[in-house]
Amino acid sequence: KSERVIASRQGPHLRLAGGGAGILNFCANNYLGLSSHPEVIRAAVEALEKFGAGLSSVRFICGTQSIHKDLEEKIARFHQREDAILYASCFDANAGIFEALLTPEDAVLSDELNHASIIDGIRLCKANKYRYKHMDMQDLEAKLQDAQKHRLRLVATDGAFSMDGDIAPLREICQLAQKYDALVFIDECHATGFLGPNGRGTDELLGVMDKVTIINSTLGKALGGAAGGYTTGPKPLIDLLRQRSRPYLFSNSLPPAVVGCASKALDLLMESNAIAQSMAAKTQRFRSKMTAAGFTISGKDHPICPVMLGDARLAAVMAEDMLNRGIYVIGFSYPVVPKGKARIRVQISAVHSDEDIDRCVEAFTEVGRKHGALP
Ligand code: PLP
Repeated sequence: KSERVIASRQGPHLRLAGGGAGILNFCANNYLGLSSHPEVIRAAVEALEKFGAGLSSVRFICGTQSIHKDLEEKIARFHQREDAILYASCFDANAGIFEALLTPEDAVLSDELNHASIIDGIRLCKANKYRYKHMDMQDLEAKLQDAQKHRLRLVATDGAFSMDGDIAPLREICQLAQKYDALVFIDECHATGFLGPNGRGTDELLGVMDKVTIINSTLGKALGGAAGGYTTGPKPLIDLLRQRSRPYLFSNSLPPAVVGCASKALDLLMESNAIAQSMAAKTQRFRSKMTAAGFTISGKDHPICPVMLGDARLAAVMAEDMLNRGIYVIGFSYPVVPKGKARIRVQISAVHSDEDIDRCVEAFTEVGRKHGALP
């Protein structure tokens, strides 16, 4: 894989190193546009000045500041959960939770398309492992029946899946979990801050905030985009993680500037749902205009809008040609997505203007016609 070098801040308009100014960016997880929000940046600078560059310590030795406790309390309040614990990333939160929580007498049931970090976290634990077909509730029920012989069952799923922009059927998952006495874990990296009427996530969108037991999510996408992750849920679980979770115990505390960014992002979201609503309107504009132009967009109502093309080469040349027109999008093909399901993934942000969206649709239409993806 190659990496393009950006010479500006993250945002809807980028400057690439070695030229390329005014590139319209449609491939960051900056869903709410908070990565370069002036108040978020100011909060980071203030935290840096007041609390220093970093802690040079893990949390339990000499690395917990008041801002870490405040942010944990704010995250728990945002999600309406009892407590929260911070990590250096959501990758770490996923690496830590399964091993700390599950024993060889337990079972974990995981959607086959879950994120790599969930897969790796599950690999690290000694529980019995079941993999159910993507969002297939019959298969999940069969696996839950089989898993009745174990002491405890945990169903683990992404809330929103990042390659397809589809949303886990959490109502049905929670019903099955209730029927078969299982806990539900969701990874909300592509939902926190913007899904649901108040941006609380997939559980709010689907009306199951009181039924999902554990949420892992990131501070590195919609919530300011700096870095960091967390688990939020019942207090005894969070207490257990503080004692047992290896990425928490053996890794440095989050830097104050990063804590400042996330804390301010949460303040902005708790003050008003206007940013999340604006992103939803832009998503709707893009999805409906692209569908009217003749493209197939996978998923529903999610700012991840995969433009389905099928052929890997077509996805690559179209993405390249989009960049020639000043629009930065990325093509994905096998093995990142299944064979024959190559796509260009477009990600919408609250800070895209209607004109940005329309320019993107026009460029897709031109490039699609040129390469035979549209008649
Ligand atoms: N889970 C999902 C679904 C993700 O998409 C990602 C990031 O790509 C992660 C976890 C890891 O998040 P972080 O960047 O905070 O490590």
